[in-house]
Amino acid sequence: MKNKIAELQLTAESWSPQQVLAWAFETFGNDVAISSAFGAEGMVLIDMASRVRKDFRLFTIDTEFLFTETYSLIDRIEQKYEIKIERVFSLLSPEEQERVHGTALWARDPDRCCNLRKVEPLRRKLSELAAWITSIRRDQTSFRKDARKIEWDAKFGLVKVNPIADWSSQQVWRYLHEHGVPYNSLHDQNYPSIGCTHCTRAVQPGEDPRAGRWPGTAKTECGLHVIEPLQPLADA
Ligand code: SF4
Repeated sequence: MKNKIAELQLTAESWSPQQVLAWAFETFGNDVAISSAFGAEGMVLIDMASRVRKDFRLFTIDTEFLFTETYSLIDRIEQKYEIKIERVFSLLSPEEQERVHGTALWARDPDRCCNLRKVEPLRRKLSELAAWITSIRRDQTSFRKDARKIEWDAKFGLVKVNPIADWSSQQVWRYLHEHGVPYNSLHDQNYPSIGCTHCTRAVQPGEDPRAGRWPGTAKTECGLHVIEPLQPLADA
């Protein structure tokens, strides 16, 4: 599969998101799933997928630190698209994490906290799949600028599919409005990127859309889409 991906990569760059999704569903059947944290891009993908295949698989890494608004959106998605979202949790509950690693680990060592609550659960989930589908876009962060629509994910050892890698934020919002897709109400309160409550704030006019994630640190990614090892960071 790894070699086939290299051959397919160029051709796939001219495919529409729907064509990329159809290819993934046809190629991997039940061994492919969409990974989403239900941001605007993720909602585009979920809506598109529902029009390509009714019983598509969708999972989320539930850090147990998500906003109430995000949990409400999860309920709405399950009702609207008639699917059961697969929730993946950390091996440690928030209380266990505090007991083992001390209070507010996210403020002292966000990389370790993300590893415990996001990266390890993702690795566990991906070990049961042949491919995963994400909604990353190339212009979101410097780590994502080289993302291909179909690629081999060497970090996790499976195929990674990024159907809207070449989309802009404007295209995302046009799609959501034109198709009446539900989205996280925090987006209307200056939260362009939404993660855990402890590490997300609203952005000010003129700020980078991801400035509200891990504010006060150099961290811009939780590690799910990073190929290079993260650099150690100073305490927040
Ligand atoms: S985003 Fe913050 S609270 Fe969530 S897992 Fe990462 S460091 Fe922990």
